[in-house]
Amino acid sequence: MKRFLLFLSLLVAVPAWALEVVATTSSMGMLARTVGGPQVKVTELAPPDRDAHMLQARPSMMRALRDAQLVVAVGAELEIGWLPAAINGAANGAILPGRPGYFEAAAQVPLLDAGQAADRAQGDVHPAGNPHVNLDPMRMATVAKALAERLAQLDAANAAGYRVRAQGFAAAVEAKLPAWKQKAAGSGGAVTFHKDAIYLLTFLGVPFHGTLEPVPGVAPTARHLEALAGKLKGKQGVIVHTPYQPPAGAEKLASLIGWKVAVLPIDPPADADAQGYFALIDRWAEALVK
Ligand SMILES: [Zn+2]
Repeated sequence: MKRFLLFLSLLVAVPAWALEVVATTSSMGMLARTVGGPQVKVTELAPPDRDAHMLQARPSMMRALRDAQLVVAVGAELEIGWLPAAINGAANGAILPGRPGYFEAAAQVPLLDAGQAADRAQGDVHPAGNPHVNLDPMRMATVAKALAERLAQLDAANAAGYRVRAQGFAAAVEAKLPAWKQKAAGSGGAVTFHKDAIYLLTFLGVPFHGTLEPVPGVAPTARHLEALAGKLKGKQGVIVHTPYQPPAGAEKLASLIGWKVAVLPIDPPADADAQGYFALIDRWAEALVK
């Protein structure tokens, strides 16, 4: 009889995981995977080689969201152009904003540039504060702990495991902190294309000298680049842009002030684990002193 029951349970395909989680970006996917462990199946919506500000809702996103018990978004309007539409298209009440199945990283931590005069009509894509918290390992550790509590709420049976893994991630960040700061020490500072690395620069103690964009989400103009060059002449630093941001503005500024240009992603590779995320922070810390 026992054997027969075991045979039956094998026939009824019981998933190995307790929760299906949809993460908007690979940084959020990394966090969900790290905290969720074997209890979660994670699907990522935005490929890391695309600008998460600029995506559009797609049927494949809606399909992924249809069966999800939890959405892990960056928030602060980063995904406003596509996530609400994708969630509406998925017709899954469990993951609507305000429900336990909807989680935003940016809502768990203090944001930079929050409460400033910002106007989407002027092209500013950060009216709710700067959403790019994923490049700050300390904020990500705080988000990990909040995510563990959310997973525990949805799946009480595995609560202890979620909390232990979030603590483990926070401990790993603490342990790596001195080496990251040491690596970036002595950096003259950085100009970035978009204000997407400000949390990391602040975290590392690296001076931030401005963005190639005159306003978040607005393409660099010759006038803005020349003003920036005037301000930075004689200073040392590095210009950073992501692989998906056009290189022309960085090259123009580099030609005016003689700084090196580094091309770095702001999210880890798709389906990365915590090591993949830490390797990304390593790359940034190294590039900022070159
Ligand atoms: Zn942005």
